[in-house]
Amino acid sequence: MSVYLDNSATTRVREEVIEAMQPYLTDKWGNPSSIHRLGRQARAAIDTARQQVADLIGAQASEIHFTPAGTYSNNVAILGRARYVEENNLGRHLITSCIEHSSGLGPSKHLAARGWKVTYLHVDKEGFVDLDELRDSITDETSMISLMYANNEVGTVQPIYEIAEIAQAKNIFYHTDAVQAAGKIKLDVTKLPAQTMSLSGHKFHAPKGIGVLYIRKDAPILPIIFGGGQEKGVFPGTENLASIVAIGKAAELAGQHLEENSRKLRAIQEIMIKRLTKVDCVKLTGAKDLARRIPGHVSVIVHGTVGEQLVNDADFKGICISSVSACSSSGVDPSHVLSCIGFPKEEVMGSARITAGCFNTEEECEKAAEVLSQLFAKRAAKNTVAPV
Ligand code: PLP
Repeated sequence: MSVYLDNSATTRVREEVIEAMQPYLTDKWGNPSSIHRLGRQARAAIDTARQQVADLIGAQASEIHFTPAGTYSNNVAILGRARYVEENNLGRHLITSCIEHSSGLGPSKHLAARGWKVTYLHVDKEGFVDLDELRDSITDETSMISLMYANNEVGTVQPIYEIAEIAQAKNIFYHTDAVQAAGKIKLDVTKLPAQTMSLSGHKFHAPKGIGVLYIRKDAPILPIIFGGGQEKGVFPGTENLASIVAIGKAAELAGQHLEENSRKLRAIQEIMIKRLTKVDCVKLTGAKDLARRIPGHVSVIVHGTVGEQLVNDADFKGICISSVSACSSSGVDPSHVLSCIGFPKEEVMGSARITAGCFNTEEECEKAAEVLSQLFAKRAAKNTVAPV
């Protein structure tokens, strides 16, 4: 058996994407800033990719900026907004949540260290932020809200439209990390009043190392990286041509297959949750209502285990899954998301994430869920045997 069920970590690059990007590594390798034919050819390819990504999220092509990864997009958005705030002497209060990805938490912590007031919203048992707490946290000094679209660890999709409307009503800059949502959930910036949004190519079948930052036209944000004028100065540096072509093609395909893909992933998700939660020691984490979860995303806690053991057990049977609690040189690093949700430390240790993608079949996922159920039960039983 060989089944890849770690699509929230990264996805396989689509054949069509490889075909599209390849000529830009071999024959069409010009610098897009050159004015000769090779350069013009490269520039035209970037323009096409920009439009393809824009179409995926309902944006204008001029609002799409390519970056080296989702991590950079989050940093450029949060710190770029902060630079604008500081230069214009606006209030230095940021509202974010305790379950953001490290690439959102990192810049927020950096701002706190620079004297910003940072409010970390709590989340409930399923990982949802509390909209009343958000409303109550806003003060005259609040100049930025940064709340993710969908959580990578527990799959919970935030009430994103309500969040954006609360921000808009108070004229507060709103950034969202939509890295886990792209390609699985319809993104539409014509309806969602966010100023900035991050995407990452490798989560929707483009290669690793290419991201996008959507910046709404005239959004009040300044660059934090300086160099040439590429990507309108937002992310200067000679463009990663082949990867930009790749993310454009991947975005086009993601848009074309969105409905069918989400439908299939919902069905797989339902099957896997049903099977896995039949086991006594297994508890689903994140949103219970599948309409409020990333399609294909299943996350569980297996009582009395350590996530890394579960991943190794599954790997031994040819199934790739992940865990957020991993053994490190300093012991076991527990997930900040599960801790923030309120799970006790011993439960946080035994987390497993099983995430399907468009290349998975229902049949193989059903079989994999069966194997995982047995492995989880066995591991939990083994670990609870008292030492002699
Ligand atoms: N944001 C979220 C929610 C993610 O899951 C990830 C990657 O796992 C990132 C940001 C970072 O994206 P990248 O790997 O492109 O830096």
